[in-house]
Amino acid sequence: MTRLDDLPLRDDLRGLTPYGAPQLDVAIRLNTNENPYPPPAELVADVQASVAKAAASLNRYPDREATALRTALADYLGHGLDVDQVWAANGSNEILQQLLMAFGGPGRSALGFVPSYSMHHLIARATATTWRSIHRADDFSLEPDRARADVVATRPDIVFLCSPNNPTGTALDPAVVEAVLEVAPGMVVVDEAYAEFSHQPTVLPLLAEHPRLVVTRTMSKAFAFAGARVGYLAADPAVVDALRLVRLPYHLSALTQAAAEAALRHAPATLAQVAQLRSDRDMLVTELRRRGLDVVDSDANFVMFGRFDQAADVWRGLLDEGVLVRDVGLPGWLRVSVGTTSECTAFLDALERVLTR
Ligand SMILES: *Cc1c(COP(=O)(O)O)cnc(C)c1O
Repeated sequence: MTRLDDLPLRDDLRGLTPYGAPQLDVAIRLNTNENPYPPPAELVADVQASVAKAAASLNRYPDREATALRTALADYLGHGLDVDQVWAANGSNEILQQLLMAFGGPGRSALGFVPSYSMHHLIARATATTWRSIHRADDFSLEPDRARADVVATRPDIVFLCSPNNPTGTALDPAVVEAVLEVAPGMVVVDEAYAEFSHQPTVLPLLAEHPRLVVTRTMSKAFAFAGARVGYLAADPAVVDALRLVRLPYHLSALTQAAAEAALRHAPATLAQVAQLRSDRDMLVTELRRRGLDVVDSDANFVMFGRFDQAADVWRGLLDEGVLVRDVGLPGWLRVSVGTTSECTAFLDALERVLTR
């Protein structure tokens, strides 16, 4: 048996563990912030027809530029954005990887305000970018002056800001982004994976004045399209040119492009669920607080709650009840994604049983 350590693996990858949110076969899965409502029937039908059409020319490579898809994404984003300012890839994780390949890498550094999205750190490591992290305040907020000072002190090549922040759900005041842009020596990436759920405005309007700002988005969350793997960004056209240097040729398959274009044609129907998810999120916050738990204010489609002496035991207890939540590795805390209304109720009932045992 060959073990990993027997291979001539890069030294900086030795001892790491791969990303691995458990994919378990349980009744109620509330651990990866997906939209719990399946895509609407008319969207599914359109995806089928569009993919079938694309399949007829799979002997040819796809449009390397994904121009039709990027045009549709620019339309969806609005704010006067043009196709040249939009780029798409296989999930926003691939977008993040391309950004780190182009603007990070050996001898460069990236800064994050933690706890935050673990993939910022993991992709930085995979691209041999030095990772620096600064802890958020006790309530997980981030203040403009504090963020500005941290960037001045660390001078990173890339700053990651997550708005709303995963795993805490914390909204980010756009003033933080402006403060960081004032002093950042390199790129500023604002990960807006959960923008559709937030009461804070998007920072897309700042793009006009800031060529080093990048706003990343995904179709995996509000769009109910996680299985298709489609992420995108908006930035200055020069940033898109930079990513063309590092992307793999034909990285986005013809089937993915066709499916995503179809899904975007039905955006209003899909996004109709967002209001329900927001109201169930607010219900979860209220109900968890009513049970005496600490709950972080959330602007996303998940809620972080605690604090437990042994969060892992509560996680296990919920799993035994058929409810999978996320242990984000933050001592005392767990994160639950907003499910359907009945899944939210089932989660609350299961938690009650676990905590009274
Ligand atoms: C879920 C998530 C993503 C999305 O990743 P995809 O690769 O598009 O599925 C990106 N950023 C954050 C903060 C997330 O939570």
